[in-house]
Amino acid sequence: MVRRGRGLVQLPGPTNIPERVLRAMHRPSVDFGTAAFAELVARCLDDLARMLGTEGRVYAYAALGHGAWEAVLVNLVSPGEAVLVPETGRFAAGWAEMAEALGIPVVRVPTDMRRPVDPGAVEAALRADRERRIRAVLAVHVETSTGICHDPRSLRAALDAAGHPALLVVDAIASFASIPFEMDAWRIDAVLAASQKGLMLPPGLAFVAAGPRALETARRGGLPRKYWDWRGRDGAESYERFYGTPPVQMIFGLREALDMLLEEGLPAVHARHARLAGAVRAAVARWAEAGAIGFHCLVPEARADTVTALGFAPSIEPDRIRERCRERYGVAFGGGIGPFRGRLLRIGHLGDLDEAMILGALGVLELVLRESAVSHGPGGVEAAIAALASG
Ligand SMILES: *Cc1c(COP(=O)(O)O)cnc(C)c1O
Repeated sequence: MVRRGRGLVQLPGPTNIPERVLRAMHRPSVDFGTAAFAELVARCLDDLARMLGTEGRVYAYAALGHGAWEAVLVNLVSPGEAVLVPETGRFAAGWAEMAEALGIPVVRVPTDMRRPVDPGAVEAALRADRERRIRAVLAVHVETSTGICHDPRSLRAALDAAGHPALLVVDAIASFASIPFEMDAWRIDAVLAASQKGLMLPPGLAFVAAGPRALETARRGGLPRKYWDWRGRDGAESYERFYGTPPVQMIFGLREALDMLLEEGLPAVHARHARLAGAVRAAVARWAEAGAIGFHCLVPEARADTVTALGFAPSIEPDRIRERCRERYGVAFGGGIGPFRGRLLRIGHLGDLDEAMILGALGVLELVLRESAVSHGPGGVEAAIAALASG
């Protein structure tokens, strides 16, 4: 079958890459040793810090988000120390498993993965740590596997209430450059981000922002490390900053993506994500009226503005719906992962996205629900239009 049109990637990463970013990356190699290139890198890192709301230092890695996870662990945690991880979903679990693989004991705070983490439970686990072995609380802001936004401020409050000195480290990979994030104002010690979500780039760049407490901790301790070591990446030369050859084309793409976000203005970027997320939720709420489809997240205020997870009655196979959307109509949605494998459909709504794209994606999903005779309340797209028209 020949398919025309563009196709949409409504995954919670990688996201749609704008033409401008693709064109900016489509260029020959340059000498990365020049002052001009060093300046380009420095400006990108400054803009990233500004967008994260921090005066701290930003480190860039040629790596995936998983690399940023390892970077914070080996820089911040010394032998004999532990980390606390609220088990909010597959990404939190993956980070915890990585810590264990590095020999770091993990104190897990379980959640039902359908509601935001209970700060009281985190506070209790911190209070129980009388010997103060926990060096860091590792928290995922938007847990991409469940579509739940866990407010880092509630964890800051838990640390304060327990009087525990642990660092607060937040994975903002699925929220950065999409929804508000204020690293310093929220007193977060280190933050992780990656290129292929709100930044609208291909996968391959990861960022860690470190505040003064995190930098001091890394100076004094940490695990054996080299590639990830912040101490080796403080120089002004691009080769030093990347500990090797900078990913030149990615940096040109990053510059363009940052320019696009700054031209739009961060408040407008956040408002756009909130508006489009509202349209998605309006459609899902309508489909849910027939009882066979529902929001995975049971707390409406905690439903993330970057990804929405839909659950289904046991007789329905969301992977079949996704396959039809992708193969017949060119729209890719995410599936369930971890304990929700085969049980969820996740709509990514972050990055380079407008009303036409989101209505197109919702329209295809509603079309496939109808074709597949999946019981659903009719008029989801109509409800999305109404939400957009009133917002
Ligand atoms: C996508 C994602 C990751 C993993 O990023 P990779 O680049 O695939 O390693 C980690 N955490 C969250 C919250 C994510 O959404």
